[in-house]
Formats: sequence, C-alpha cells, structure tokens
Amino acid sequence: MLSSVPVIVLHGGAGYWEGKNLDNVTSTLREASRRGFEEFRRGSSIEAVVEAISFMEDSGVFDAGKGSVRNSEGKVEMDAGIMDGKTLSAGSVVLVKAGNPIRKALQVMKRGKHVIVAESEGNSMPTLNSGNSGDTVGAVALDLEGRIVAGTSTGGIAGKDPGRIGDSPIPGAGFYATERVGVSSTGIGEVILKMLPAKEIDTLVSIGILLDDALNSVVNKVSHVFGKGNIGIIGVSKYGEVSAHFNTKGMPRCYQNKEKIQCLVFGGDFS
Ligand code: ASP
Repeated sequence: MLSSVPVIVLHGGAGYWEGKNLDNVTSTLREASRRGFEEFRRGSSIEAVVEAISFMEDSGVFDAGKGSVRNSEGKVEMDAGIMDGKTLSAGSVVLVKAGNPIRKALQVMKRGKHVIVAESEGNSMPTLNSGNSGDTVGAVALDLEGRIVAGTSTGGIAGKDPGRIGDSPIPGAGFYATERVGVSSTGIGEVILKMLPAKEIDTLVSIGILLDDALNSVVNKVSHVFGKGNIGIIGVSKYGEVSAHFNTKGMPRCYQNKEKIQCLVFGGDFS
C-alpha cells in the first residue's frame, strides 16, 4: 500500500506465533511504533528507527535486548545492524553481551571507520525471560527529507553455538537501505545469509519492480529453494510504499503514518 510520509514500519519477528501472548506483543510493537514515529518531529529516520528498536530491546518481550534467548552455554550474544540509505553508511555489532545493540550499531555507523564490529569483552546480562519471548525485531523508516533507514536487532536463535552470527547484522541479508528502498528481514539466519533477500529487493526495485512485488517474489524464491517457515521481510520505498511478506505462520508488524497505525500478526495486507 501507499502511505503518506513520514512513515515507519516495524516487525517483531517471523515465526510460529500461535499460542503466544499476542496482546503483549502487539501492544509493545504499537508503543514502539508510536515512539519511533514521534522522533520524526525532532529528528530523521535514523532516530525513528533507533528509538523504536531500543524500546523493543528494553521491553523484554522480543528476542532482542533484554528478552534475548540464550545460546547453548546459557549466555546471551546479540547482533544488530543499521543502515542509512541516503549515505549508504552502515554499522553493525555482533556478539554483544549487554546494553542496547541497536545504539551500539548506530555508534559504529556514525564513526564510519568499520561496518561490523564484534564485542569481545563483557559479561552476559541477565535476561528477563528464557527463550519464551517474541522474536527478532526490525524497523524501517522514511522521513520528509526522503531518507530511508533500516535496522534489525536480535538475540539470535535459542541454543545456538557460542559465537554464532546470523543474518541480522549483515547488510544485504538482515537489513539494507538505499535511496530507493529500506528492508529488515527476520527468520532463520542460516537460510537468509545464503539468499541475501534485502539486497535483492533493492536490485528488483532498481529495475522498476514495485516494492510489494519485490518482497513477494523474494519470499517465494526462498520458499522454493529452502521450503517454508524461514523468512519474513518488511520494506518501505522512497515513494512511501509499505509492504510485508513472510512464509511463516505469522509476523507481528505495524506501520504508522500521521493518519493511522495498523498492526497485524497473521495473514492480511496493510491497508
Ligand atoms: N534472523 C535471526 C537470526 O538468525 C533470528 C530471527 O529473525 O528470529 O539470528
């Protein structure tokens, strides 16, 4: 669908979602969306994405920040990334033990020297819940200046090997932004890393494919190669097109512009 600008779109992870506390998930997503959107008054898409994601990291409701799942040694190792489509600057952090990974990723992006930095020091923080949380979180925003920013933050996959890094902090896989489009992906990192859906969506849009068709075709391609149940994507284009597709049971997601906020979990399109 075509939204007015500015607009922010969020997801709370592609997954099974049935039997989970969806009220809590959607109300947290809604509040994150509200807080992110509020940032457009003062700042750009960068602040909108970082505020929305840090709120979700702090909520303990999702597999990100305080709600992060544990690895096979019972420790938390989080990954996050952010990209500014206007400047093509990107920053990611991997194996983060505490704090807000998306804010740390923003620092890497602002510094500009490197794109991906691993956190080698620090003790794993205590988490609020153990593996029964929601899922990875992501946000994409387009502001009145036409700046598109995409970000993703995750605790990864429960029981993962120590040191495992998924798709979420990898530009072109877990997130990507250009002057045309911004995308955040979620699902099984080991699948997403091989398909680079976020980069492919930008390529499709650059040759004239509509955003919604681009997301749909990339998700279908992943299903064709690896089967279903492994990916979800949200996206925004420079025209204000907003789209979400997934091949899992559900993917909590919201979009917000100045007229409305709409949140969905299972099937159905934004309207
Ligand atoms: N993609 C994330 C990872 O593999 C997990 C998720 O999106 O749920 O680390």
